[in-house]
Amino acid sequence: MGVNVSASIQNEARPVHGTDTSDASWSARCTSPTEFNCGEPGCAYVLHSPVEYEHHYNSSHVHVCSACGQSLPSERVLELHISETHDPFFKVLNLRQPMYECFIEGCALKFMAENDRRQHLVVTHQYSSNCLDL
Ligand SMILES: [Zn+2]
Ligand SMILES: [Zn+2]
Ligand SMILES: [Zn+2]
Repeated sequence: MGVNVSASIQNEARPVHGTDTSDASWSARCTSPTEFNCGEPGCAYVLHSPVEYEHHYNSSHVHVCSACGQSLPSERVLELHISETHDPFFKVLNLRQPMYECFIEGCALKFMAENDRRQHLVVTHQYSSNCLDL
């Protein structure tokens, strides 16, 4: 018997597509399929899934007082709310010195009464008074 394996294995050199530059756009498409922005005013946070969004929102945009359940617009206002509303020493101290701090970070003014601060926020920081019904 003769050797029946025909030597048809050809070592033909195939053209190499190594110079294709479509790689960059391919990986860009693959790494960011569902990026979206948080959407809250002043927040540039980029999210990738609804779960991530919920976690981010709850930790960054919801400030709930653990004592009374009231939600406040910012971390700073929440802190002020806690000391003004739930700190028994607050009103005692306020008899001797102004304790109501301005809501605006970096504004060092303090007031003897909540109404004085309210007026200051409206006049100086252009708060609308219905924003202040905390
Ligand atoms: Zn956000
Ligand atoms: Zn509270
Ligand atoms: Zn102020």
